[in-house]
Amino acid sequence: KDSICVKVIESRAGSKILSGFIPQRNATVVERAIAEGAIVVGKNSQDEFGFGSYNVNVGVGFEVPKNPFDEKRACGGSSGGSAGFASLTKFSHASFGESTGGSIVCPASFCGVVGFTPTYGQFSRYGLIDYGNSLDKIGPITKTVEDSAIVLESASGVDPNDSTSVHSKKENFSSFVGEKPNGKTLGVVKEFCEKGRLESGVEKIFFDKLSALEKEGFKIKEVSLALNEKFAIPTYYLMSTPEASTNLARFCGMRYGLQKDFSGNFNEYFSQIRSEGFGLEVKRRLMLGTFARMSGFRDAYYLRALKVRSKLLKEFKAAFKKVDFLVHPTMPFVAPTFSEIKNFSPLQHYYADLFICPANLGGFPHVSVNAGFSNGLPVGFMFTSDHFGESELIRAGSLLEELK
Ligand code: GLN
Repeated sequence: KDSICVKVIESRAGSKILSGFIPQRNATVVERAIAEGAIVVGKNSQDEFGFGSYNVNVGVGFEVPKNPFDEKRACGGSSGGSAGFASLTKFSHASFGESTGGSIVCPASFCGVVGFTPTYGQFSRYGLIDYGNSLDKIGPITKTVEDSAIVLESASGVDPNDSTSVHSKKENFSSFVGEKPNGKTLGVVKEFCEKGRLESGVEKIFFDKLSALEKEGFKIKEVSLALNEKFAIPTYYLMSTPEASTNLARFCGMRYGLQKDFSGNFNEYFSQIRSEGFGLEVKRRLMLGTFARMSGFRDAYYLRALKVRSKLLKEFKAAFKKVDFLVHPTMPFVAPTFSEIKNFSPLQHYYADLFICPANLGGFPHVSVNAGFSNGLPVGFMFTSDHFGESELIRAGSLLEELK
């Protein structure tokens, strides 16, 4: 993903404002992959700074990637280019995506590949052009669960350059590929899988795979995420946009990227550069985020959102007392066409992430694996586990993969 810095390659997080920015260092995940013999082949398109679900909110002058299964449809976002490319390549390839509210699994589902979002802190964020620091997670997008497991092995672990990276136990993740579940329980999220909620093709594929998993020895239970269903999206936007607005304040045409001849006073220059360098969706989010953290509003919005987040997290923790995984289709529909997307309101855009945002808000690891095709378009099946349940996700995900 363009937001992950690679030494000597222009890294712009999909934004014109970072034109010409060439990092002097590799992101830790890139450095670790190279140390294991990886070869960097390039960077992929994304929604500008990660703001979107369809990779159509690209920066000024960038092109929108097309879905490998149907050119009239989106790749999903915001790591759309990473998923599209992982799906198209004929050689062994892993992309690094980044997810704040669902940007790894959404495009993975739409492009028929595996998207793996690790626990928050499992991968270092050093060298990531941040969207919202308390939510951002880097993770692999690959063709198979095994490839994701290999990336997890190389990239995981504490990094002195990122104080939020965690001392997790060093695991041999790829050894879990193809292992049997041993009586684990899948929790079908009631609110997301209710009749009428899902596109019919998606519903059929999801429930078919669920019964196949049951035959493989999984127990099935229904669980509720009622609070998350209601509050995750508003909470997410009240947390992520204030964090984005502070992060993006540094792009003022003086330190990084786009620069012009200085004219007028600083405020005039700052405003000229940002008007030209940022796309429309970025401007919308900066206004929302700046408002929500302004003095006088901070307690009412940002800080309240943080409190609601802890309640949402508790709902997940209670669910994980009853089941080992939460499962549902990654997205309720297949990749939409560009003309459908044009008619979506901003709120419809934001609510596209309803199923995938909750796990992201709580920093829970999750994986989307292709479960089949509805009219030739890929459908993703998502498993979420409790914090640091990556190895269990590899077990379950690789089993689903074999059921094809
Ligand atoms: N679609 C969400 C947003 O626009 C999530 C993006 C992401 O995870 N980077 O904020």
